[in-house]
Amino acid sequence: MMTVEITCPDCGSGINIYPSVEAKTADCDVCQHSVPTKFNVEHTEGQLCDCPVCERKDFFQQKDFSRKIGVLLFVIAACFVPWTYGISLIVLWLVDLFLFRRIPNVVICYKCQTNFRGVSNLKEIPQFNHEMNDRIIYSDHDFEGKPLEHH
Ligand SMILES: [Zn+2]
Ligand SMILES: [Zn+2]
Repeated sequence: MMTVEITCPDCGSGINIYPSVEAKTADCDVCQHSVPTKFNVEHTEGQLCDCPVCERKDFFQQKDFSRKIGVLLFVIAACFVPWTYGISLIVLWLVDLFLFRRIPNVVICYKCQTNFRGVSNLKEIPQFNHEMNDRIIYSDHDFEGKPLEHH
């Protein structure tokens, strides 16, 4: 089952919902803002082609891992270097390797930052592309689901 986490455009809170064709809006628990949603049958089957929030087709996938936790772990490991002769960094590297393999991927909409978990067509979704991100965010470009080719 695909789960959807919409970023509230008003207060930035996460709104967690399941795709449902009947649901026309998703309501923010924090500020009561309601976000219009357009779910189709594909969404309820975990297929992601169109964003149910902004109707764009440009997504990227990444590991569902908080950067903050990564930085915190690194700082802790770095603090222990003088006592462990650097072994703490090796432990961190092993933890990272172990954790990283087990972390599932999350798909994110470039335009509205909605997160999708449990997407069944994950194979079709590319990794993050900086140029696409800049063009979508700053110049409102619509790639219509055709990722930039490497050049
Ligand atoms: Zn809100
Ligand atoms: Zn979107």
